[in-house]
Amino acid sequence: MVVILLGPPGVGKGTQAVRLIDSIGGGEHISTGDLLREACRDGTDLGLEAQEFMHKGELVPDSLILNLIRDHLTTTASETSIILDGFPRTIPQAEGLDSVLSDVAREVSQVVLFEAPEDELIKRLSGRRSCTDCGAVFNVHFEPPRIEDECGRCGGLLVHRADDQPDTVRNRLQVYESQTAPLIEHYESHSAPLKRVSAMQPINDVQLAFRAALEIG
Ligand code: AMP
Repeated sequence: MVVILLGPPGVGKGTQAVRLIDSIGGGEHISTGDLLREACRDGTDLGLEAQEFMHKGELVPDSLILNLIRDHLTTTASETSIILDGFPRTIPQAEGLDSVLSDVAREVSQVVLFEAPEDELIKRLSGRRSCTDCGAVFNVHFEPPRIEDECGRCGGLLVHRADDQPDTVRNRLQVYESQTAPLIEHYESHSAPLKRVSAMQPINDVQLAFRAALEIG
């Protein structure tokens, strides 16, 4: 499988990607957001270049993203499922993805769109706390950590991401509407089937609907 998880920031794509991989016993979860945050932490050239876009809630240029993702896609074993989270985010990225996949004789098998209204996304993003060590995500509104600011998985420090602050969140949602939402139509009218999953249900039910969309029993 090569599955694209589409949907606005805060809709729960990362959470569902991790759960899916746990439940199918493996696979490669590729989150361009996580890869970019790692590059920022490591202070690489890419991280330094990406940082200014990320802080404003803008998209990092397509050429940088495609370079970043190419290695991951081409070095993943052909029998390993790939779950793409937060990529592609623009039509040129989708076209670049098709071209890289065709180099390794693979193609997008499914596209799943997670949906939730904007006021819910703002609430989720404002309550989101991420672990600086292992990347686990908690939510002070829905899934509070047992000890304040401490990751329940590894004991690391939980932070409110700079780009989850209200002004940046509004910009990220606008950027999603203008640059990423056109992918819905793109995939509906192209090759891969697009399925819709409501993210407005308990997390386990979202997972069930996601598995149903992928036709996994
Ligand atoms: P995320 O964690 O997926 O919400 O991504 C956080 C930030 O990283 C985004 O707001 C963008 O600045 C940047 N980013 C992540 N993935 C992409 C992508 N595919 N294309 C452009 N920018 C991206």
